[in-house]
Amino acid sequence: MDTTQTRALLDTDRKFVWHPYSACGVEAPVFPVTAAKGVRLTLADGRELIDGMASWWCMIHGYNHPALNAAVERQLGDMAHVMFGGLTHPPAVTLADRLVEIAPAGMDRVFFADSGSVAVEVALKMAIQYWIACGRPAKRRFLSLRNGYHGDTLHAMSVCDPVTGMHTLFNEILPRQFFLPAPHAAVDGPADPVDVAALESALSEHGDELAALILEPVVQGAGGMRFYSPDYLRAARELCDRYDVLLIADEIATGFGRTGRLFACEHADVSPDILCLGKALTGGYMTMAATLARAQIADAIARGEPGVFMHGPTFMANPLACAVSLASIDLLLASPWQQRVHRIAQALRDGLMPCASLPTVADVRVFGAIGVVELTHPVDMKTVQPLFVEQGVWVRPFGKLVYLMPPLIIAPEDLAMLTSAVVRVTADLGVRDGAAAPVDSPRVRSA
Ligand SMILES: *Cc1c(COP(=O)(O)O)cnc(C)c1O
Repeated sequence: MDTTQTRALLDTDRKFVWHPYSACGVEAPVFPVTAAKGVRLTLADGRELIDGMASWWCMIHGYNHPALNAAVERQLGDMAHVMFGGLTHPPAVTLADRLVEIAPAGMDRVFFADSGSVAVEVALKMAIQYWIACGRPAKRRFLSLRNGYHGDTLHAMSVCDPVTGMHTLFNEILPRQFFLPAPHAAVDGPADPVDVAALESALSEHGDELAALILEPVVQGAGGMRFYSPDYLRAARELCDRYDVLLIADEIATGFGRTGRLFACEHADVSPDILCLGKALTGGYMTMAATLARAQIADAIARGEPGVFMHGPTFMANPLACAVSLASIDLLLASPWQQRVHRIAQALRDGLMPCASLPTVADVRVFGAIGVVELTHPVDMKTVQPLFVEQGVWVRPFGKLVYLMPPLIIAPEDLAMLTSAVVRVTADLGVRDGAAAPVDSPRVRSA
């Protein structure tokens, strides 16, 4: 694109188009992308950026992958879409079968949804409908963790952290849920008994009203980029059983290898009752999500009134999305993904380490292929975003968090570009703000 075309594009964008968590009609830097391949985004002016975000956890194989392109093209030749009410098709059935096979044990029933938030809505509705079917309709509220993030639709918002969940504005109209403190214990240590006690007392006190505990296993994403002890997850599983409350694992961000296991539940060797998948499910090619459940939940719903599960999206099990998901899973399982995650973790640890001694940095932590630099103050996106672009990388911080979760196929030298850009920009922030205030011992936490 020439500069005139680019300027026209950006003018129209600013005038008419909303971006995520943005205002329309307000000046904010957005960068026009014209193509992407591997870990590189090409901007309209020809510059290339190394992608540190995997487009928000999604693009595990990188952009424009020949195997995924081929899967979409093949399916396109047959049909792009067909309604799923009363009809079925091979990509959906094969994908459901594959998901049951690779998901934590007992996740034997599959509901395809159109996005992560919808998969969470579906999980919550499943839990509510399950308890109605069991003759216990009072069990319709949810227990959730502070610093959790589960999506932007209304009921999903109600289980997000009431403060960091970005939805405080809606507090008055959202259903009231119960919240536990975010688990404290480090990801490589035992659970903190105080956290487990808080969980147990909430379950014993409110068990009669609770349909389910919903959590992001081991890694809390957009609500704070925190990692916590798998022991806590194990305790949650045991306590949910003891107090007759379902456990919903939201693995929309963590699923498909990001944490070094195919699913983060595997770190604790537990299975939830309901599992939400999304994001990397399609290899980042298009929107699709899935909610998996134990057969016992599906059976109870089938036996109850009205005998069906009350949800059915128009684009349910879209064939293109199913076909590309299958190709993505095949590609992942045929790749040395565990070594890749391990190698990325090591490089993130080494590469981000210099941040730990910066006065602007409160904490540096790495788990799986996720590296987080938590600053002492929120960044000003208007200034920080262009700084990263100048460094030739795509890194999109939010609040106090600068983080990397690159495509798993990233080469060591590209990853080194990402980490050194983060070090340079965070160091530069200190100079800009003149911040020299001492911080309580910054440390590197990792596993
Ligand atoms: C992104 C995310 C969601 C919401 O998914 P969308 O596809 O954006 O609706 C829900 N839960 C978690 C853990 C997520 O990371």
